[in-house]
Amino acid sequence: MTQIHDGGCLCGAIRYRTTGDPIQTTICHCTFCQRLTGSAFLVEPVFKAEAVSVSGAPPKTYELTSAGSGKRVTVSFCGCCGTSLMLGFERFPGYVGLCGGTFDDPSWFVRDLDASRHIFTRKARLGVVLPAGMPLYADHALAADGGPNAPFVLAEPRVVDGSWPS
Ligand SMILES: [Zn+2]
Ligand SMILES: [Zn+2]
Repeated sequence: MTQIHDGGCLCGAIRYRTTGDPIQTTICHCTFCQRLTGSAFLVEPVFKAEAVSVSGAPPKTYELTSAGSGKRVTVSFCGCCGTSLMLGFERFPGYVGLCGGTFDDPSWFVRDLDASRHIFTRKARLGVVLPAGMPLYADHALAADGGPNAPFVLAEPRVVDGSWPS
């Protein structure tokens, strides 16, 4: 049976529904995601666009150009309560990144070795714990030319302190 999961904004004006599992989950420590969330990082399960449907009020959008890739990122948010709900990417058309904390059950999707990764760890905030045994990327997982960047893996969890990255 296909998994159905629902989420929405703080005020409830916008609701969304996803079908199936995320293709992968990105935990992003970049400064864009810190500003977007007002927190230390974004937990971002990524779906094919057709696996995500939105109901209720139409989201407002904000576009900006990524300093890294030079491509547009579109943030969808609630015009009433301001909750950021999802991201669209000029660089990855056909995919939608959800703001994972907006699911009614924000813990339903897995964050295991095969399905998730931490990116922009060089920007991770003080006190954040980077897990052992998972692919971590100092910057984006993909280079600007589309080729893969190399991940690194910690043997032990590491608390980000003033010496990170060493
Ligand atoms: Zn709202
Ligand atoms: Zn980010």
